[in-house]
Amino acid sequence: MKAEIIAIGTELLLGQIVNTNAQFLAQECAALGIDIYYQTVVGDNASRLLDSFKLAASRADVVICTGGLGPTQDDLTKDVLSDYIGQALFIHQPSMDTITKLFQNRETPMVETNARQALLFENSDPLQNDVGLAVGAALTFEGTHFIVLPGPPKEMKPMFTRHATPWLKAVMTDEVPLYSKMLKFAGIGESSLEHELIDMIDAQTDPTIAPYAKEAEVTIRLTTRAHTPEEGEPKLASTEAEIRKRLGQHLYAVKDVPIEHVVLELLKEKNQTLSVAESCSGGLLSDLLTTEPGSSEVFKGGVVCYSNALKHQLLDIPMDMLEGPGAPGAISEETALLLAENLQKITGTDYALSITGVAGPSLSEGKPIGLVYIGLVGKESIRITKKLQISGTRDSIKWRSSKDALYQLWK
Ligand code: ATP
Ligand code: MG
Repeated sequence: MKAEIIAIGTELLLGQIVNTNAQFLAQECAALGIDIYYQTVVGDNASRLLDSFKLAASRADVVICTGGLGPTQDDLTKDVLSDYIGQALFIHQPSMDTITKLFQNRETPMVETNARQALLFENSDPLQNDVGLAVGAALTFEGTHFIVLPGPPKEMKPMFTRHATPWLKAVMTDEVPLYSKMLKFAGIGESSLEHELIDMIDAQTDPTIAPYAKEAEVTIRLTTRAHTPEEGEPKLASTEAEIRKRLGQHLYAVKDVPIEHVVLELLKEKNQTLSVAESCSGGLLSDLLTTEPGSSEVFKGGVVCYSNALKHQLLDIPMDMLEGPGAPGAISEETALLLAENLQKITGTDYALSITGVAGPSLSEGKPIGLVYIGLVGKESIRITKKLQISGTRDSIKWRSSKDALYQLWK
């Protein structure tokens, strides 16, 4: 089933408000297995709105409209759709009663135009508005399903979920729903990952392979059509196996969880603990770890030692290792390792991680922006350092180094 979202309102066109309705509806449709092919934004103008309806009906099975159901002159959606489908509007009495009652309760006089919000098409189903005044509508015209919803998100969202979704499900009975699976990767950037899979991505048909990156993690969504996991899994199996063969060392989960979640679970299972020493990540790693519920059993804490003086004072890194001619410097393998070692001596945790690097915008110690060293020490004489060269903004360097530190531990 192909759908189009039409967001109606001149404010949207002018950039005065952001089209969050389209974002919400697109996500809801994806979950329902409805493909969004187009999203349109059109102003409060009758002839352009009519054009949008015609065009959408010509290329979509479902057209979902939001906005323009208010009582005022510029709220045109129902009038224009009524002209287009050739169905007159009439007052839907139950909605009218609700509106009347609401005004009585508020003890404010109801103006005549408010009655417009109870209008419905001759052959349509009402979509009840439990929050606001305007009743929505669902109807089928010449094979195209129209869903008409008000603009305010607090009205639109519950109406879509509670009332439009069951209506759509009822007209979609022959559709096989989408079945998808998330593969989560760390320690690899989106472009390197895509490079490894480019032949598969180019040749994809069923399942589809969709990579996307957020907060220094890459997700691949494999999607097919199936009614149940039992029917869907075999259709994904060979693609998943091939991806594992190529990128298995980066694949840390097959559900939508961040790597800190997986690392904490693993350590919890083994009854092990962790502390962290952060320089250029500025506490982000600690933040990520403590955002996970129940992290206190595993994560004991750590330090943000941003300056060399604090690296020396708090973690006993010799000043002549941090500065001076011939010194390795704060951004070095040696310092990364010693930060983790000395932290572990103080905290007594099973593992200690450290991050030191150049987040920019200028060079530090003459070293390039994005150069990061990660240190990892563990009880079983684990002593690992990892050098990274990350490209991007300060923010992306902080994210990538924090996630990569966790990846070193997971690996
Ligand atoms: P009202 O009765 O409030 O006039 P309406 O159904 O006529 O409702 P609009 O007039 O188009 O809707 O928009 C009303 C308000 O709803 C806007 O000022 C805006 O705050 C919000 N809104 C409308 N469309 C969107 C959208 N696409 N995304 C996010 N918010 C929206
Ligand atoms: Mg309005």
